[in-house]
Amino acid sequence: MTKEEQLKERWKQVEARIGAACLRSGRRPEDIHLIAVTKYVSAKMTELVLDQGLEHIGENRWQDAKEKWNQLHHRGIWHFIGHLQSNKAKDVVGKFDYIHSLDRFSLAEAIGKKAEQEGLRVKCFLQVNVSGEESKYGLEPDKLFDFAKQVRTIPNIEVVGLMTMAPFSEDAEEARPVFRGLRELRDELNRQAVFDTEIRHLSMGMSNDFEIAIEEGATWLRLGSILVGKDEGGESTWES
Ligand SMILES: *Cc1c(COP(=O)(O)O)cnc(C)c1O
Repeated sequence: MTKEEQLKERWKQVEARIGAACLRSGRRPEDIHLIAVTKYVSAKMTELVLDQGLEHIGENRWQDAKEKWNQLHHRGIWHFIGHLQSNKAKDVVGKFDYIHSLDRFSLAEAIGKKAEQEGLRVKCFLQVNVSGEESKYGLEPDKLFDFAKQVRTIPNIEVVGLMTMAPFSEDAEEARPVFRGLRELRDELNRQAVFDTEIRHLSMGMSNDFEIAIEEGATWLRLGSILVGKDEGGESTWES
C-alpha cells in the first residue's frame, strides 16, 4: 500500500469507529470534528493529509510546526493544541485559527494583546485539568469559573469551548469520568451564563480514548498516531 492508501484506510477505519460510537450514544457524526495531529510527521506527510481532504491540522509546539506551517498554511485550518508559554503567544496568534490550551490569565493577556495588534479575534478553548494529574497542564476545575469571567473581559478572545486530556491508560474506560467532568463543567458555565453566548465545544479524545470521548459529548477529537501515524527515521509506520 502507498502512504496515500494507508492514510485513506486509517481515516476510513476511524470514521467507522466514530460512526459506531455515535450510534451507541445517540449523537450525530456531523457534530464530531476531526483534527489530524501531525506533530509526529513531516511536512511532506502533512501535505498528504491535506491532499486526502482532512482539513483540520493540530500541532503542539511552534518549533516543530514551523516548517509545516510555512509550507502549508494557505491550506487547512490550524489548531494549536500544546502548552503555550506567554512569551510564545506572539508566534502562534495570527497563524493558528484555534488555540486549545488557554489556562492562565497571563497567557490570555498575551494572546489578547497580539490579537488586538493583528486586528483578530482568536478562538480559544479553556484547558481544564479534570483528572488532577500533576503532570497535566490546565486549570483546576474549581478555578475555571473565575478564570472564565476574567477571560470574558478580553475582547480579542472568543471562548468556543473547553479542552482536556485524560491520563493515559490501557483501559480507555478510565477516561470516562474525566470527559464527563468536562462536559458537566461546560454545562454549568452555560447554566450560569458566564459568556454572552452558549459555549458548545468540547475538545477531548485522542487515539486511545476517542470513542469514550464521543460517548461523553466530544465535539473535537485530536487524533495523531491512529490517524496520521508516526514518521520514524523518515519512514512512516502504520501499525498501532
Ligand atoms: C499528541 C497530542 C494528541 C494526539 O495524540 P495521539 O494519542 O497520537 O492521538 C492530542 N492532543 C494533544 C494535546 C497532543 O499533544
